[in-house]
Amino acid sequence: MGTVWKDLLEARYGNTRLKVLIGDVSILSKKESHWWRDLIVSDNFERLLFDHFMSAIKCNIGNGASTPLWYASWTGRKSLMESFPFLFSLAGNFSDSIYLAGDFIDGGWCWNFTRWFDEGSPAAAVAAELKHHDRYSSRAPPAAASVNSPAAAGDATVADSAFSQQLAAAIQEVQGVMNLVPIKDNCVDNFSWALSSNGCFSVNSCYEFFKASLSGPPMESNKVLAFNYLWKFKVPSRILCFGWRFLLNRIPTRDQLVRRGVLVGGSDSVCALCSKEEETLSHLFFLCNISIRIWRRVFMWLDISEDLTIDEFGDFFHFYGKIHCLNKRMIVGTVWLATVWVIWLKRNAVIFKKEDFSFTECMSDIVLLSWRWLCASHRRVNLCSFYNWNILPLLCFER
Ligand SMILES: [Zn+2]
Repeated sequence: MGTVWKDLLEARYGNTRLKVLIGDVSILSKKESHWWRDLIVSDNFERLLFDHFMSAIKCNIGNGASTPLWYASWTGRKSLMESFPFLFSLAGNFSDSIYLAGDFIDGGWCWNFTRWFDEGSPAAAVAAELKHHDRYSSRAPPAAASVNSPAAAGDATVADSAFSQQLAAAIQEVQGVMNLVPIKDNCVDNFSWALSSNGCFSVNSCYEFFKASLSGPPMESNKVLAFNYLWKFKVPSRILCFGWRFLLNRIPTRDQLVRRGVLVGGSDSVCALCSKEEETLSHLFFLCNISIRIWRRVFMWLDISEDLTIDEFGDFFHFYGKIHCLNKRMIVGTVWLATVWVIWLKRNAVIFKKEDFSFTECMSDIVLLSWRWLCASHRRVNLCSFYNWNILPLLCFER
């Protein structure tokens, strides 16, 4: 079944493995799968592919048809692109497979360097000249001294220039490296995953590999704990996701949209609530006059001034560390999530539905939403009446 599926994919998309392993946007055509296209053109693809993914793939070369000549690490730890930048800079078709870089002659593999470079280019002329003098051959590369061999010395050819000598030396060197890997006719390439003992790819091992490779500077331990704690809140998953993005500053506020080229800037980037300052995450949620009023009112309603200052309440990482009573922390955290979520919804309503911002409505939504979420997370739904929640929220939902 797997083979049929593979054949079907190849018939529809061509040599997908080769294309993905090359990752060259220029080889994508209109008929490519959107999935692969998105993957290949994504911002991180090059970084993920060449700095990380390739190093986890072990290439077992058959006839070389599915392995990119330049990009795959098929001769050792590095790709030819990295090991031979001079040759790579002259190469004609970067996306060729190994199979297209030579020929089987009398059952044996011979590299054909004239095909490596654009027809008519100086590099192709040098390669042709070298081939003419039989100064390279796949199975028995001549010594480097042959570049100045007597057979060639008398010819006033292109091979006598400094460029030619450099190219000839590079060709001989790359040939020496490539000849360590036998190319076998009638045998397909296969790839194994270097990060597992059985060579099989698993999404989990790939995720862990990328996570370790791509993670930025380590986060302070208290923030790691707070981030992990976020997932314990019994609120809808979309709210948890929003909170997580919020803490990472990944909310599409207007400054972020300007940075990504979605908005032009200027009046486009002004805060939707006050229309005075640039809308950044910190302005919209904490520094805007309207948000400040909301936080003050929520802070007074919760009556937590004995535990926290109002600034500490606004900082998720701070109140997490300062409130040790689990029930109180759960209530404060849930209200905090409801506050940022409702501010965001109201801001969106102002922008997209042209609604006027209502402070009273905003406060009622925060109180109602947080009560609903906490009720849903407790088995006894009558644990706290909405009336009590309005008056003394911290005394509600005690287990
Ligand atoms: Zn504002």
